Amino acid sequence: MKLLSLIIPAYNEEDNVEHCYEVLSELMNKNSIRHEFVFIDDGSADSTWNIIQRMAEEKDNVTALKFSKNFGKESAIYAGLKNCTGDCCIVMDCDLQHPPETAVEMYRIWETGEYQVVEGRKESRGKESFLYKIFANAFYSLLKSSAGIDLHGMSDFKLLDRQVIDVLTEMPEKQTFFRAMPGWTGFNTTSVYYKVAPRYKGISKWSKRKLFKFALNNISNFSSMPMQIVTVFGVIFFIFAVILGAQTLIRKLMGRSAEGFSTVILLLLMIGSIIMFSLGIIGFYIAKIYEEVKNRPKYIISRRVDKKKSEGSVDGK
Ligand code: UDP
Ligand code: MG
Repeated sequence: MKLLSLIIPAYNEEDNVEHCYEVLSELMNKNSIRHEFVFIDDGSADSTWNIIQRMAEEKDNVTALKFSKNFGKESAIYAGLKNCTGDCCIVMDCDLQHPPETAVEMYRIWETGEYQVVEGRKESRGKESFLYKIFANAFYSLLKSSAGIDLHGMSDFKLLDRQVIDVLTEMPEKQTFFRAMPGWTGFNTTSVYYKVAPRYKGISKWSKRKLFKFALNNISNFSSMPMQIVTVFGVIFFIFAVILGAQTLIRKLMGRSAEGFSTVILLLLMIGSIIMFSLGIIGFYIAKIYEEVKNRPKYIISRRVDKKKSEGSVDGK
């Protein structure tokens, strides 16, 4: 019988983890899907670790991992991929915003053996502010035009076959973008659509600042297009320079040399800011290369609890 790994990152989710386990367990048992849980405590400050540790001590099919600090959801997902033992896995949020029934639907599709990746796509984006929607759409459009990947409605809610899990965990790169990576690998992929449910308890852990950083990082991860902007600036300014140069020269020859201190100031300011802007873009990529070259781990696991390493069970006892 095949084993499904449920990978669940948790950051300050003391009100959700146990409920999440219970709901998913019950559903999987009802559908006779042999499963295991991998909970990753992403450096929570509340009692999330105590709860998942206790669950891992009591139940055969729960693995609990504790990060030494908050490394972020992306790292937590990769730790889950690395430490799961299933024939396939599903990555889910622990606030039950990803409907558990959709996970069963994903598993049934995988069972047919036709697809190695089943993507969860948001049918409706749930309750989000107008500004947030604009921001998300702009980000996806930018990614689509620069890197050619369509992430509209995409989330981290995915099913991956063991083959895909192995490919992803063997990639040496440190700055990854889980939402887009399985699609990039090129394995047979299909999508299921789901409605984002409201959060079970607590509040979202993504601050606006974190989201903005995440968006910038992911664009630079998948595309070097922003660096081409520097070249485009160069070309535009070259054309501008030729025209202005010719005009100034003609005026000079005709004995009417260009007067105007303000023109000089204006040009200096414009060129100065564009050079700095361009340096910023290049600097951003150099910083990325620097981080990658340092080769630090994506995460550090400070504690691990699991009773029975490889065997998941249907009933979790
Ligand atoms: N999460 C995490 N590390 C973080 C932030 C979030 O592991 O630094 C987890 C969180 O516990 C939840 C999932 O990622 O299981 C999604 O987070 P959240 O619900 O806050 O995000 P949203 O649904 O608002 O996008
Ligand atoms: Mg959520």
